[in-house]
Amino acid sequence: MNFSIAKRKPFGLSLSKPCFFFFGVRKEKDSPSTSSGQTGVFMATLFAVVALTLPAPAQADALLDNANGYTLDEDGNLVRFTGLLFDPETGRVTGLLDRRDDRPGDLEFLHDAEGRTVIPGLIDAHGHVMGLGYGAIQLDLSGTASLAEAQAMIRDYSAANPTLRWIVGRGWNQEVWGLGRYPTAADIDAAESDRPVWLVRVDGHAGVANHAAMRAANITTSSQAPDGGRIERDGGEPNGVFVDAAMGLIQSAVPIPEPPVRDMALRAAQNILLGYGVTTSHDMGTSADDWSVLRRAGDRGQLSVRVVSYAGDLETLLDIAGDGPTPWLYGGRLRMVGLKLYADGALGSRGALLNAPYADAPDQMGLALSDGIYLRNRLSRLAIDRFQPAIHAIGDGANREVLSVIEEIATRYTDDRRWRIEHAQIVDPVDIPRFGQHGIIASMQPVHQTSDRLMAEARLGPNRLQGAYAWNSMLRTGAHLAFGSDYPVENPNPFPGLAVAISRQDANGQPVGGWQAHERVSMSEAFAGFTTGAAYAGFAEDRIGRLGRGFYADFLILDRDIFDATPEQIRETVVLETWIGGGRTWVRSAQPNPNAPPMDAPIGPMISEDEVTEGR
Ligand SMILES: [Zn+2]
Repeated sequence: MNFSIAKRKPFGLSLSKPCFFFFGVRKEKDSPSTSSGQTGVFMATLFAVVALTLPAPAQADALLDNANGYTLDEDGNLVRFTGLLFDPETGRVTGLLDRRDDRPGDLEFLHDAEGRTVIPGLIDAHGHVMGLGYGAIQLDLSGTASLAEAQAMIRDYSAANPTLRWIVGRGWNQEVWGLGRYPTAADIDAAESDRPVWLVRVDGHAGVANHAAMRAANITTSSQAPDGGRIERDGGEPNGVFVDAAMGLIQSAVPIPEPPVRDMALRAAQNILLGYGVTTSHDMGTSADDWSVLRRAGDRGQLSVRVVSYAGDLETLLDIAGDGPTPWLYGGRLRMVGLKLYADGALGSRGALLNAPYADAPDQMGLALSDGIYLRNRLSRLAIDRFQPAIHAIGDGANREVLSVIEEIATRYTDDRRWRIEHAQIVDPVDIPRFGQHGIIASMQPVHQTSDRLMAEARLGPNRLQGAYAWNSMLRTGAHLAFGSDYPVENPNPFPGLAVAISRQDANGQPVGGWQAHERVSMSEAFAGFTTGAAYAGFAEDRIGRLGRGFYADFLILDRDIFDATPEQIRETVVLETWIGGGRTWVRSAQPNPNAPPMDAPIGPMISEDEVTEGR
């Protein structure tokens, strides 16, 4: 790992020379106080000669000092520092300082952390960037405690947004409402019946449409659900509820937002992520439209959060990336590395594929969204071009199937492929060691454990939960663990995730002692899940995830010491400042920071494709 850092250093040095030279000449030439053109030329020449003959002074570093700093080192040990030196030009760390180390006298700038805790920027290994953004600007029902409350919100939103062609929202959860059933089109009509309304469930695996939306989508009594989906009916009539693949029937009728609305959504998403200290996110299921929004932001210097992208479908992946992962774009801000695939649905809507029937629905075993042959074909196709598959598998049946497919493909591609299984929520304990055998990445979301606990117990019964959310067993049997939140399904704040990972307790401290407490991980391991582990999962462990020489100066200033705190205290952590690539990108009191260095200043030279290959 150190080799690649050492090789990268010359980039920064070679850049600083021409910059210095050019700056010296131009400064003289443009100076309004130069009365004689000749003097100006002479001065400029002298200046240029001096600049050429003297060794170019190294670009002065910037220093974040007086920090209570923590990072993992390359061996996974937690190390401490009080000063962080970084090159403001490349945006990369040049050194960590101990309290006893001398501070350089010549500094580009000094920032006093005032003794506060500083950690590397956190990485969410599984999120949906545009989903978060759209959610932020759409009707958000996630806080509603009853159907009546949701109906009131729909009415208010409708009145406040008279020009919208469709009212789109998400976040409802009939379990929280205590409804005992899904909401129906009639329930939504009671709030808004003129314009189409489409409301996606909190887990993204079911939605409810009103009658106007069903009309717009040409849904009739004779409409059939596609494979892997279900249309719920009352007496043969579609009642407004569309599950998993059937959601597409309505979704495809929703007009795509205009580009300015999409740009607004990305801005909203970035602001939310920055405020929670998420400096890099893996984007699961990037569409061609999403990619164009990300590229537009990158082109304009408005992409702050680093995004590691997994395309939503093969066509999009091949269109965008061609015959291999894209280079890092915009100085390490954006890269497409692979494809998101689905093996099954979710537990809440009983779409997760189980090995045996649901305990609370004995006639259902879930939905296989892809069969084994399809998965084999897709993984073979991806492997040829070194694209990384990230396969959603929640039920024990789906996980077993995916493990078998990976095992088969992995015998042909024995080099570093980092097969990813997303969620890996319910795994038969006999299958857990299979994760370690081929270096599979278990990309898991700690907060799902607390959100799903009671529902998972109902769906599976008491005897099939031994391998549920089994983070510690995954680690002990050699799997690579990457943590995330699956936002906007959950809040993207990683600190509750850290708290849950070490406690297996929810925000109310339930259950006492932690749910299946042997599956807790240590604080260092949890921290690794949101830093080095998540970086590794995206082939980015050579540049993000920890603070060390050559790594991007992505770091957070926190209001408390998370390594000297209870889970309850960790959960309440407040991010004060978020720095990315050596630039202060977000400040709590005044976000986004208008005085932040311009995007092109703090970040390094474009990474060449060679380097990307080397990184892999
Ligand atoms: Zn997801």
